[in-house]
Amino acid sequence: MPAADDHSAAQARAAIQAALGQIGFTLPGSITIRRTRCGKPRCACKADPPALHGPYIQWTRTVNGKTVTRTLTQAQYQTYASWLANARRLRTLAAELEALSVREMARAEGWAKITPGTQAPPRTRPVRGPNPPRPPETPGDQPA
Ligand SMILES: [Zn+2]
Repeated sequence: MPAADDHSAAQARAAIQAALGQIGFTLPGSITIRRTRCGKPRCACKADPPALHGPYIQWTRTVNGKTVTRTLTQAQYQTYASWLANARRLRTLAAELEALSVREMARAEGWAKITPGTQAPPRTRPVRGPNPPRPPETPGDQPA
């Protein structure tokens, strides 16, 4: 029923928008934590076992098409890691809102049954018989 679909789509949109409203600062890029060897031949980083340098906390992002890296202190990392997590959350929510919008457009325009990857309205689903009985599950049969 279109009215029910409108309602659920509006509810889903409101939930995404509420989540978007909760996001604070968002930092682009990603964090890489490296431990490295240096060029000095008799350094402890060449010992067995090696005592590597670092950890170096590197924040990498793209600025005007170029990769930019800045090394952060542990304190900076602790302060700003949540900002990076917020950016990932923002991207996830934006993707959800886009997918919802595409579904809603297809539903409104009657495209659902010809758009791959979207669910057709119930009335166009093929009528299926009852599911065949499932084989009994044996202990140890776990998906890989
Ligand atoms: Zn070294």
